[in-house]
Amino acid sequence: MSATILIAPIVTMDPERPHADAIAVAEGRILAVGTVAEVRAAVPAGTPEEELAGTILPGLIDAHLHMERGGLKALSYLPAGADAAGFIASMDAHFASPDWGGDVPPTLEQRVEALRLVQPLLHALGFTGVMDPAARPEEMRGYQEAHRRGALTMRTVAMPYLEIGSAQTPDVDAVIAHLGGLGVSTGFGDDLLRIGPIKVYADGEALKGQALLERPWDAGTGYLGEQRIPTVDFDRLVDWCAAHGWGVGTHAVGGAAVAMVTAAYARAGQAVRDRRFQVIHAYLEPSVQSIAAAAAAGAIASLQPSIIWHNGKGLRAAVGARAETANPVRSWLDAGAVVAFGSDGPFFAFDPRHLVWQAVTRQVKGEQEPLSRSEAITAAEGFAAYTTGAAYAAFAEHRRGMLREGFDADWALWSADPTAIEIALLRGVEVLRTVVGGETVYQKAAGL
Ligand SMILES: [Zn+2]
Repeated sequence: MSATILIAPIVTMDPERPHADAIAVAEGRILAVGTVAEVRAAVPAGTPEEELAGTILPGLIDAHLHMERGGLKALSYLPAGADAAGFIASMDAHFASPDWGGDVPPTLEQRVEALRLVQPLLHALGFTGVMDPAARPEEMRGYQEAHRRGALTMRTVAMPYLEIGSAQTPDVDAVIAHLGGLGVSTGFGDDLLRIGPIKVYADGEALKGQALLERPWDAGTGYLGEQRIPTVDFDRLVDWCAAHGWGVGTHAVGGAAVAMVTAAYARAGQAVRDRRFQVIHAYLEPSVQSIAAAAAAGAIASLQPSIIWHNGKGLRAAVGARAETANPVRSWLDAGAVVAFGSDGPFFAFDPRHLVWQAVTRQVKGEQEPLSRSEAITAAEGFAAYTTGAAYAAFAEHRRGMLREGFDADWALWSADPTAIEIALLRGVEVLRTVVGGETVYQKAAGL
């Protein structure tokens, strides 16, 4: 076993030891964390040492990133040789373009190629893991094939999406029959590819006026939004999943949708924690009661600062002052919920520096005035949501999300400590190197 000592300021994200000066790694795992002297004492004399310029953090995990669809979009639109900044710009420019530019659906080969293309671009942003929040059967096949070929470098948790109302699964009974017929369930897989909770939609999108609210969108019409699944069906699906080893991640944007989801989860007992049930988005007027109930039930709040960055201006136009507290990350954290950050990329912005900056400043695209700062968090809390919070959502809180003895050597070297730098400078901090299981998967070219 050949170990290496890495010496640099380390932000461990481990509450028991938040800062360290060195780690020792071997065989893809962390052997020791501490002062240089402590780490030297933990490994054989003469162990090679590497001094790194920058700050080491655990690898980030985007808890809501459509990675394979992002890969297909990159294959379709990204100029050859583009870097992560080019990828970000291209996805922004193609926000509304279809995922796939081809005339016929992508082949399995093209899906693998898409994953080979997109993973390094995400590693360059400090990511070592993702949760794909809606993997249709053909996407699941793409992930499995990439894994089989050894082409998966991003630790991936894929959330199966069986669309209710489709020919294959016309109703909830069909979804249950499909899930029950598999035998395996949420949590099955390995360190590179794991099956997450299923994805369900409770309501629609806020800017389309589809978020299901408790107070009408418009007092004149009394319109409350769009409920995508009858409560009785949703309850039955959640009850069945809880009893059969499946987790549930539910898209619930508006307060009434969050209330429906929370009520069902509250009856599901220990399964909510065991299978990492998620309330997804939950950004438009979730009530204090719903937030408290979701946290008490053990549900993960899967939140995306990117969505409010894009939608903040439009929401102000639609609901006025009611938009000010949108994406209440502060309230979710204060209620004791596990918050996992994600982006909903490649459709919404997915640069983690930008998202944490948004969550701290509450700035939104196209507006001078930020949203109410009452829901602001700190950068350290933002990076915790990308590491410890997202690792919990990804069934990996005992292996990833922190740099601690025995954990995986998944880390990134940043040009400065992004959790402590002045917030105005956060978006200029660079990822210099990213490592998954001890293997370097991204290294910034010298002299750039
Ligand atoms: Zn999404």
